[in-house]
Amino acid sequence: MTKSTKILGLIGRAVDYSYSPLIHNTACRLLGLSYHYTVFNIADPSMIPDALRGAKALGIAGFNVTIPYKKSVVPFLDALSAEAASIQAVNTIVNEGGKLTGHNTDIAGFAAPLLPYRESIRGKTLSIFGAGGAALAAIEAFIRFFAPKEILLFVRNPEKASLLLEESGHDKSAPVRILCSDNPEIIRECRVIVNATPIGTRGNNDSPLPLDRELLHPGQIVYDMVYNPLDTPLLLAAKQAGAATISGIEMLIGQAEHSFMLWTGMQMPVKAVKESLLQEIQQ
Ligand code: NAP
Repeated sequence: MTKSTKILGLIGRAVDYSYSPLIHNTACRLLGLSYHYTVFNIADPSMIPDALRGAKALGIAGFNVTIPYKKSVVPFLDALSAEAASIQAVNTIVNEGGKLTGHNTDIAGFAAPLLPYRESIRGKTLSIFGAGGAALAAIEAFIRFFAPKEILLFVRNPEKASLLLEESGHDKSAPVRILCSDNPEIIRECRVIVNATPIGTRGNNDSPLPLDRELLHPGQIVYDMVYNPLDTPLLLAAKQAGAATISGIEMLIGQAEHSFMLWTGMQMPVKAVKESLLQEIQQ
């Protein structure tokens, strides 16, 4: 680091585990850019306004934002991109001369690995397990890029999911249907199945699969947002059933690539960054 090194960071709670410093610092090192990416653990949402005012005062170049602050930061930003405004959630902040603009790169990052399947997804029924921030980004991505017939949202608490959708600023005419996780037969008809719950995460002792493996077949694309382990129980079951699979690592890299471009104006060297990340996760 030198006196002119610009600072980037991740705002979240208990985010020491994050791979974002590795991703962005590797990219900056490979491109010879003078940035340093670190983590900012913020204990309580009441501290968010001070943190963002401090970032302006100190000239911090930008942030990623993660659980549980993707929504809490919104009222304290000076502007929002169209994507961030569409779900009222921000995962990237850019500081341009003291003006903080919020973006949401989870949407494009989620969509990227599905784009090769675009034509076969259009007009089909799709499903998402979970109804948190990641599910909202997936819904928005499906609507923006894939024109589905219907999006089925499988949740354990329909009232909570319905409230989340209402508060998110989502297009009310979007074809989203909320279903209880105990109504799974319809999954057989889904072209894409997304796990947007933490089920399957290393160290998580819940049931390892969000759905019955008997519902999986070769006509499906199974997308697990969980990226540690790389081969989640869901992806292993999907492979055994002959379905196409997408690992959460693709979204992790995809959203990072878009954030990196917003901060630096440079294309991230994705292949090399992904190799470093895979090495780290496998260790
Ligand atoms: P979140 O806001 O906490 O939402 C989690 C959702 O999963 C909630 O709807 C929750 O239901 C549900 N859920 C949790 N445990 C469950 C269980 N045992 N059975 C059924 N449903 C359960 O989290 P998020 O930000 O949406 O993230 C969800 C997952 O995606 C996390 O594992 C996160 O690491 C991953 N993610 C990955 C990327 C990537 O780049 N690959 C990006 C974002 C997120 P309740 O509301 O009822 O609790």
